Amino acid sequence: MSKLALEHNAINLSQGFPDFPVSEKLIELIHRNMKEGHNQYAPSPGVVSLRKIIAEVISKTYQRPTNPETEVTITDGGTEALFSVIAALVSQGDEVIVFDPAYDSYDPAIRLNGGIPIHINLNPPKFAIDWEEVKLKITSRTRMIMINTPHNPSGAVLSEADLRALEEIALNHGIIVLSDEVYERIIFEDIAHQSVLKYPALASQSVAVFSFGKTFHATGWKIGYSVAAEPLTREIRKAHQFITFSVNTPIQLALAEYMTEPENYTQLGKFYQQKRDFFLDQIKGSSFEPLSCFGSYFQLLSYKKISGKPDMEMAEWLTKEHKLASIPVSPFYKDRTDHRLLRFCFAKKEETLEKAGRLLRKL
Ligand code: PMP
Repeated sequence: MSKLALEHNAINLSQGFPDFPVSEKLIELIHRNMKEGHNQYAPSPGVVSLRKIIAEVISKTYQRPTNPETEVTITDGGTEALFSVIAALVSQGDEVIVFDPAYDSYDPAIRLNGGIPIHINLNPPKFAIDWEEVKLKITSRTRMIMINTPHNPSGAVLSEADLRALEEIALNHGIIVLSDEVYERIIFEDIAHQSVLKYPALASQSVAVFSFGKTFHATGWKIGYSVAAEPLTREIRKAHQFITFSVNTPIQLALAEYMTEPENYTQLGKFYQQKRDFFLDQIKGSSFEPLSCFGSYFQLLSYKKISGKPDMEMAEWLTKEHKLASIPVSPFYKDRTDHRLLRFCFAKKEETLEKAGRLLRKL
């Protein structure tokens, strides 16, 4: 859709990346580290200072004492973290439960590693997980359950009750939980993010995955990390070692310094809540209907009142005819379920959102 947006000179609210700048301070820190000569391979698990500050922040935020030596691994973005975890922990014929709509790397990562993805569909408007349905899908081959909160593309978030239900299932069946928490800080209305790391028993057999791309408006840097108990981390690092070996050194060093100031990341929920509300204000009066969005930087809009077109066609039409690019939701479902929804990324400057709103109000 980004390519189509470019071809048609359309406003691009499709792919999930901010159109505003990264902090000057962070860029200066990277520059300084490069000039000081920190330009060679980092240790495979990540630069020590970065792992230390991550462990401190995790310990404080989720009240989970975390060991930087043995439990934190810096990866090439959240995507590599997800892939390395699956490569390390899923074997030929293992089943992995995935909730659709899902981020597009999950299914291929499982299959490339010999696993069998078991898809469970979540439905609008709430995209809630029915844990009784999950229990019915568990077999002796179920190795892993993947969750994502806050959720791309729906903006749904899991509750404490969800995590308790998941914990019971994971513990009863010895299942590993892979928790994609790349939007951990983009959560609204003062809702507490439910990390698997908050629940000690669940955390002992879970891996949480995070991304600096989301937190510091720099999706192009591709740096993320996984947090997991030592026995799991040991296995993850074996895969990570031969997938990327290590990650960009000067940026890791700069991130370590930048993270020592909590205000550099604690205001993100408020920042994006304002963007969400600004976007919703801009589309008031349009026939597009917003669904609830509690986290992430995506807003789903239903276009049922406007057209009966399939979502792929609708997204194309909107881009070509009205110069506004979004993402259809059906490709996030393995079975291509089409709820007539489009996803709009609101990680954009107000002027971009204003222009998009003007176009949407006309329809
Ligand atoms: N998980 C989800 C749900 C995402 O939306 C994304 C990015 N679009 C990622 C993981 C990957 O993060 P990264 O860009 O750090 O690889």
